[in-house]
Amino acid sequence: MDPEQLKQCRDCTACPLADTRQNVVISRGNPEARLMLIGEAPGAKEDALGQPFVGRSGKTLDRLLQDVGFQLDRDLYICNAVKCRPPGNRRPKRGELSACRRWLDLQLAQVDPQVIVLAGATAVEAILGLKGGMTMLRGTWTTWQNRLVMPIFHPSYLLRHSPDAKGGPWDLTRHDLATVRRRLCER
Ligand code: SF4
Repeated sequence: MDPEQLKQCRDCTACPLADTRQNVVISRGNPEARLMLIGEAPGAKEDALGQPFVGRSGKTLDRLLQDVGFQLDRDLYICNAVKCRPPGNRRPKRGELSACRRWLDLQLAQVDPQVIVLAGATAVEAILGLKGGMTMLRGTWTTWQNRLVMPIFHPSYLLRHSPDAKGGPWDLTRHDLATVRRRLCER
């Protein structure tokens, strides 16, 4: 987004989430990266700090990304499908997702990523229009608008499981992110 678009996004009141947010949470990372990671919506910490994925889920995500060799500030651009926090961390409603889509589309146009990682079912539904269990959807490449897309578990789901469980959600997500990194290294 250019500075004028950023200002418009920060002032956006296009859906009711504007009434309860502290900050519009737009992005972090490198806008010139080849990889864009899209999550669901900001949580409490993200709302307070104005940055996506900076709470417990975000730290989990950062750890896994670093485990497979990504440099966070250089290798990816991170955002959410919805830029304002839904009260009580509920899932964004369909109307909120569609109201916020213009900002996500601007981010996609600006970053123009070769590869997109979709973290969680809401991001998968927002971009691919697919509904289904993440256990089925994760870990399989698909394409969307000539870009490679990899769905992964949302890191908040990982927090409900032990990081030490062999073959559990943490291992599977590390495997999926390693697959993404390998593919980017080949391109
Ligand atoms: S969630 Fe998106 S559409 Fe709704 S007020 Fe925030 S920026 Fe605007």
